[in-house]
Amino acid sequence: MSELSAIDFSTVLSHCGIDLAAHQGDGITVRSPIDGATLAQLAAVPVTAMPAVIDRAAQAFKQWRLEPAPVRGELVRLWGEELRRCKTDIGQVVSREVGKIVQEGLGEVQEGVDICEFAVGLSRQLHGKTIVSERPGHRMMEQYHPLGPVAVITAFNFPSAVFAWNAALALVCGDPVIFKPSEKAPLSGLATFQALERAIARFGDRAPTGLAQIVLGHSDVAEALVDSPQIALVSATGSCRMGRTVGPKVAARFGKRILELGGNNAMVVTPAADLELAVRAIVFSAVGTAGQRCTSLRRLIVHHTVKTALLDKLLQAYASLRIGHPLHTGTLVGPLIDQTAFTAMQHSLTQAQAQGGAVLTGGQRVLADQFPHAYYVAPAIVDMPAQTAVVQHETFAPLLYVLTYDTLDQAIAWNNGVPQGLSSCIFSNDLREVETFLGAAGSDCGIANVNLGPSGAEIGGAFGGEKETGGDRESGSDAWKQYMRRTTNTINYSRGLPLAQGIQFG
Ligand code: NAD
Repeated sequence: MSELSAIDFSTVLSHCGIDLAAHQGDGITVRSPIDGATLAQLAAVPVTAMPAVIDRAAQAFKQWRLEPAPVRGELVRLWGEELRRCKTDIGQVVSREVGKIVQEGLGEVQEGVDICEFAVGLSRQLHGKTIVSERPGHRMMEQYHPLGPVAVITAFNFPSAVFAWNAALALVCGDPVIFKPSEKAPLSGLATFQALERAIARFGDRAPTGLAQIVLGHSDVAEALVDSPQIALVSATGSCRMGRTVGPKVAARFGKRILELGGNNAMVVTPAADLELAVRAIVFSAVGTAGQRCTSLRRLIVHHTVKTALLDKLLQAYASLRIGHPLHTGTLVGPLIDQTAFTAMQHSLTQAQAQGGAVLTGGQRVLADQFPHAYYVAPAIVDMPAQTAVVQHETFAPLLYVLTYDTLDQAIAWNNGVPQGLSSCIFSNDLREVETFLGAAGSDCGIANVNLGPSGAEIGGAFGGEKETGGDRESGSDAWKQYMRRTTNTINYSRGLPLAQGIQFG
């Protein structure tokens, strides 16, 4: 047993600056997936309070947008410092609340630190282009200006990092943020938010009241943000089901949105693959976070000539997986988030077998005697005859389907033949295969990797996916542009008024 599981949880929360008494009330019961124990009873914000919350953000925007971006960057720099200082404690809250193993809990907070550093650099680079004009004595340019209040609605499985990804960029871009964490992981949200509050306190008066707010609650609270025309950008991370409701609502009021929804990620393993490397990548991406990452590997598309060799190695690796208490040293697979997730996995396994699948390993509940109120499972591998209906759904659990292909065209068609389009990868040392996979007729996903798994993205790249994954991007590259409004300015410094396209008027 590691020392971490022995530390009193209230001590961890107080290190994170969370005053549990201040949040206690009705509405949200927080349970640990580790053992089913109740961690907290929290008050949900009533929907009737939301107009005032949104108004505060709108007022804060009037002041914050006028601060120079590098000054705004200084606040985010302080936030990064606070996250770094509290990394172990926030990581522990994440582990206890959503069941991530220690390194994954820490890694999640590190993503917050990384995006803060990225955003600080960005705060001196929010630049548009200067564009040559076709008219004499004219100059064209574009500018990026702050957009307005940003709502950040997050999923349970990245309860800290996804808020940081969005808020760090929004704050340097000049936008106040309202954070609605998952009702399954509000404590991780509070811990991350408290670090921001401390940064704001250190930053001083130049941060207006209402610059950053957190609202604990269920989907009704999120809906108040989605429906408000005062919320300029809704960034919502979660299931495709949620996105199907949120997307049209935001569109109906011509708001902006970033939708980061479900994935159904594949790996193609060709005859030219390094199988040892592939096995390591499969294990990490299929069973890491107990298969509860949007980028988890769910479909293994393997060439028939290497299938037996690959599966032999994979089954061996699965046999040695350590499943258990996520805070104990050596554990690689923690619990599922709740009973609903377990039931959904069992349902998919039954469906897969009815559709011709053969379970090669796993799928069953384990450690039930030790943790009768929690749901630990043995990660499953199911050999499928084809990409049947169940394979096209995202089952948020460690359930890996194997599909056997003959031609690369077929493998790519399967890779693309699902409604989701988040992440994908190919294992091959054949340049032709690799470039075909990355090319215009290759993978249709937002992320396409070579010789590494589909999960574990770096913050420097734009993150997101196509089709039912939402079509948007957040985090690195030029994702910041979505948190700003763009203006194109044409300046006439001549004494005439020449018109564009050579038009003569009057
Ligand atoms: P979920 O859709 O149940 O909930 C996500 C958030 O949306 C919660 O805060 C919830 O309160 C809110 N919500 C739910 N219904 C809503 C509605 N009608 N209107 C407004 N808000 C609503 O998702 P979950 O179970 O917490 O998370 C798992 C899912 O999230 C998986 O599908 C996973 O792939 C996806 N996910 C995607 C990404 C990504 O970046 N693409 C990242 C993490 C998780």
